[in-house]
Amino acid sequence: MKTAVKVAYMLILSIALVSCGGKEKKEDKPKIQLKGQSDSSASEDPNTAVISITGNDLMRFNKTEIKVKAGQKVKLTLTHVGKMDVNIMGHNFVLLKQGTDLQKYVLKAVDFKDNDYIPDGDETIAHTKMLGGGQNDTVEFDAPAPGTYDFICSFPGHLALMKGKFIVE
Ligand code: ZN
Repeated sequence: MKTAVKVAYMLILSIALVSCGGKEKKEDKPKIQLKGQSDSSASEDPNTAVISITGNDLMRFNKTEIKVKAGQKVKLTLTHVGKMDVNIMGHNFVLLKQGTDLQKYVLKAVDFKDNDYIPDGDETIAHTKMLGGGQNDTVEFDAPAPGTYDFICSFPGHLALMKGKFIVE
């Protein structure tokens, strides 16, 4: 009689364990699949160039050249991967019209702190916000006509190290 009771308990216990384990597995699987699906569909549009660029506490972009195709929509995200404050090590991405004098542009920008160091005028094609460590900003714009353009960070003093070529093919 006693062994029969023990066996019955064991059965109930093992059924309870199996059903608990089964539930946990079912909840985990769909989450992983959803993440993979959303990632792959985001970069499949051939009309959109998705660009990611970073700036750091050493006053550097991680890219000195960006290439897109004529007619594309550009979706560019700048991420400040450093830790320093926006007032000390601020970074933005500024795309400038061909023929812009970079030195003159950043000299003018010094007076536009309240406008994220984006000066008045028509030299600016597109720009992100001015960012501090840990922040990011995405800007969307149409690729300009084929050619080579300058991109810079317009924070005072950063032009020396933070510039690159934006090439439209
Ligand atoms: Zn900067």
